Amino acid sequence: MVLIFDESYLEHQQNYMHPERPERLEAIVEKMRAESLWNNVVKPEPATVEDVMLNHSERYIRRIRDSPEGYIDPDTYLRKKTYSIAMKAVGGAIKAAEMAYEKKETSLALLRPPGHHAVESSSMGFCYFNNIAIAAMTMADKAQRIAIIDPDVHHGNGTQDSFYANEDILYISTHQRYIFPGTGSISEVGSGKGKGFTVNIPFDNGCGDASYEMAMEKVIHPVIKQFNPDMIMVSLGTDAHYEDLLAGLNLSSKGYVDLLNGIHGLAREICHGRFAVFLEGGYALSPLSEIVTGFYGSTQGRDISLKHTDISDKKGLGMATIRSVLDTQKKYWDL
Ligand SMILES: [Zn+2]
Repeated sequence: MVLIFDESYLEHQQNYMHPERPERLEAIVEKMRAESLWNNVVKPEPATVEDVMLNHSERYIRRIRDSPEGYIDPDTYLRKKTYSIAMKAVGGAIKAAEMAYEKKETSLALLRPPGHHAVESSSMGFCYFNNIAIAAMTMADKAQRIAIIDPDVHHGNGTQDSFYANEDILYISTHQRYIFPGTGSISEVGSGKGKGFTVNIPFDNGCGDASYEMAMEKVIHPVIKQFNPDMIMVSLGTDAHYEDLLAGLNLSSKGYVDLLNGIHGLAREICHGRFAVFLEGGYALSPLSEIVTGFYGSTQGRDISLKHTDISDKKGLGMATIRSVLDTQKKYWDL
């Protein structure tokens, strides 16, 4: 087990009163320390421009480096330090992927800024460079097939875009329907050779634990087993938690930890434990920190006690969504 972290991730600032704030990572570090889990911390090197160019245009990279301070899209603010910290976040993501692949162990990259909304030539939704997409691309000469699972409450449009026509990188997202960024409908399944290698599970407001368990059992588990990846990566946003006010899904902390453990189990079963987790969103500090710590603890045989464990979705409000996903995806997978 290894943690990837750099002090500079705490220095990244959006504008004032922004939900994507340094306190998010501070809360995680504090909780991990309190549980004596803050060890095996690896400090990454910054990514190179060449690495970032695997997913972004050179012109856009220069824009992030050279633009004056201010908003670069309606949600994302640029400061003088943003470029160098974002390069270190990409570097952290690459390091996590390498360590997970080479050492066959769980790597947890505690990154800021997040990345899954960033597209080739634009920032979006608090993201500048797409950390997980770039990390997956740097592994292309080693891992033949990579599965990316994205349980952030927002659809990872940037990551989906990067691999939409790609049959070697499977992208599966659970998210809330009709909120930012507006993409991620069930009918978005990939294009050309990549058809069937994008799987979207857009839940309605209110879906929680039982819906996610069903998604895992009926869709994620069988698709991953058939895809048979060499490595599994997770875009971990904890903003589908019921305490998180940026959206309306109702996953509990235990639901999140169970979901992560379920995916981790698949990585151990299928790809020798090659498993890397990359922090994306999650704005309610107490759930964010206990989910990350709870998962990391459980990979080391520890049972961390969780506070936010109310379960409102007991029956699986998302059943209709999952049925439609199955109807669409059974053209590509045995479901
Ligand atoms: Zn999010």
